[in-house]
Amino acid sequence: MTDAFQVSERRSVPPAEAFSLLGNELRVSILLELGDAKEGSQPRPLPFEELRRRCDVSDSGRFNYHLQELLDVFVREEGEGYGLLYPGVILYQAIKADSFTDRTTVEPFPVDADCPECDAELEATYRNSMLVVRCPDCGALAFKYHLPPGAIRSNDPDAVLSAANVYARRDLLTVASDVCPTCASEMYHDVVPDDEKSSELEQAMPGPAVVHHCSYCKNFFCTDLPEVLIYHPDVFPFVAANAPDLLTDSLWTVDVCDPDDIAVEGRDPLRVTLPLRAGDERLDVTVDRSLTVRDTERA
Ligand SMILES: [Zn+2]
Ligand SMILES: [Zn+2]
Repeated sequence: MTDAFQVSERRSVPPAEAFSLLGNELRVSILLELGDAKEGSQPRPLPFEELRRRCDVSDSGRFNYHLQELLDVFVREEGEGYGLLYPGVILYQAIKADSFTDRTTVEPFPVDADCPECDAELEATYRNSMLVVRCPDCGALAFKYHLPPGAIRSNDPDAVLSAANVYARRDLLTVASDVCPTCASEMYHDVVPDDEKSSELEQAMPGPAVVHHCSYCKNFFCTDLPEVLIYHPDVFPFVAANAPDLLTDSLWTVDVCDPDDIAVEGRDPLRVTLPLRAGDERLDVTVDRSLTVRDTERA
């Protein structure tokens, strides 16, 4: 293991302090103007006078007061002007993407795929920034994941479903390597066999469920075992070499492993083995309770 690096400063602004700074229309305007200011596609620092004019404030003293309040939390001084710090950029992008303000609801629309349980055509809904693909007949859940409202702007069902698939797959890729997709801290996993499932979410998963959680930002979600394992660094090369479509096709249509073939082979410690099929090849993968791959074997 390499030596830990030296942190020269580790400090944080109290959340209540940071958010109380934003309870003012002018300060939100300052953030938006600084975010909008570009030279080509690069951020361009804005000099004080230009920033004040863009915010349409004539009282220089009042304007300066509000600008100073944002300094070192969301805004920084850069050479001759002002620009956004990283928290300011995140906030700016979240505002532009309607993350705090969008309340779009989309009525059920058909998905070009059949229910794995009863063969009825699946349908999708979008509500509270969550895209859900479900069987209208038997109620089986095929997919459920948060999707920012930017994906819905096109009104094109295929584009929305494609974005949802890519967005979820991006997160599966990071999660399978133990990195939290929200905060980049370490992600932990709990493999939950059928007879230990407690929540509705765990029960909705075919075969063992995997609960992924981040102890830092408290991000948490649940997947089935095969969909995350195909992105595990010990398994990914096998899938990519033999059936790359499994890494890109819609998650609600992909079938890498029959849940009935997943075997709990030990309880203490837990060992779960799944036969993953990619093209004509098969890889038997054994994981423990923390989703560490204990064994892989070509069959
Ligand atoms: Zn069904
Ligand atoms: Zn996190």
